Amino acid sequence: MEQNQMNVFREQLSEVNLELLALLNKRADLVQQIGLVKHGMKRFDPVREREMMDLITSHNEGPFTNATVEHIFKEIFKAGLELQEDDHSKELLVSRKKKPVDTVVNINGSNIGDGNVHLIMGPCSVESYQQVSQVAESVKSKGINLLRGGAFKPRTSPYDFQGLGFEGLQILKRVANEHDLAVVSEIVSPAHIEEAIDYVDVIQIGARNMQNFELLKAAGVVDKPVLLKRGLSATISEFINAAEYIISRGNGNIILCERGIRTYEKATRNTLDISAVPILKQETHLPVLVDVTHSTGRRDLLLPAAKAAIAIGADGVMAEVHPDPAVALSDSAQQMDLEMFDKFVEGLYKFSNASGRELR
Ligand code: PEP
Ligand code: MN
Repeated sequence: MEQNQMNVFREQLSEVNLELLALLNKRADLVQQIGLVKHGMKRFDPVREREMMDLITSHNEGPFTNATVEHIFKEIFKAGLELQEDDHSKELLVSRKKKPVDTVVNINGSNIGDGNVHLIMGPCSVESYQQVSQVAESVKSKGINLLRGGAFKPRTSPYDFQGLGFEGLQILKRVANEHDLAVVSEIVSPAHIEEAIDYVDVIQIGARNMQNFELLKAAGVVDKPVLLKRGLSATISEFINAAEYIISRGNGNIILCERGIRTYEKATRNTLDISAVPILKQETHLPVLVDVTHSTGRRDLLLPAAKAAIAIGADGVMAEVHPDPAVALSDSAQQMDLEMFDKFVEGLYKFSNASGRELR
């Protein structure tokens, strides 16, 4: 008999659960409609929330206390707000929801995002024609087509080498022409973009400039691929929004680059956030690279970090190479010399082929 009564209550409880579910979703529908009407206006309205809460508790006849009722409704309100935010991210132009197919960025015939592993190699800074030329020769001999090199260097200290500026871009362009390579180089000022596009094939926006919104906007209006690096302490959401600044101005040829983030760990220069790669690939349709040099800051970790990048689905790897790292004007402790570069590419070549992807 008791068992029977229990079953009756349980059935009723299940029915109430379903009624609650229907009501919660009815509320969610309304919240979404309000979100559409409020487009652009602030979504969280504490005054309105207080009014709703007061009305609810004034009708509360128990057995729940007002505190418990407030707690439950606060969660319901929060879920509603999150729903409005989700709707917003659906609208991001870089999002997979907006464009399900992968963006493939064509740099002089190299298709980043095509499923193969692309390498971008070169010195940290452009120091001389001779230096870049030596690296370029080695890069080309390995069948790699993308040459990096910093002409404008946003250094942490104003007393460190700041780069050769346009003279550096001229060196890069000359060497790239001689070896049939494409140039990837950082631009730090919106005022330089117009002039720089004659020299570079990819505009790099560095970690320190990831939230330089004027620079992002300026890169968004030119017809030139952009390699956007993750900020030193940027969340993935901030990184994605930085890319949104560029695409929202019209330029959709964006490559994202995870380059390590600042954490309490001192064993590496930065902490390579390897899980950012599949997250960025899921959330956006853009190709994703991993810079193993700045993320680890350690030569002994370049190859294992690059393998990890390939294994986790990165579209390519960036690393720094210098003919004589000991005398380099920047990042001397972490650049590979040419011999190490040979071994690095050899190791990656095997690893990449074993995972069924071509190294380019
Ligand atoms: C660079 O790639 O040259 C560089 C300065 O890296 P980051 O902006 O990631 O520090
Ligand atoms: Mn560097």
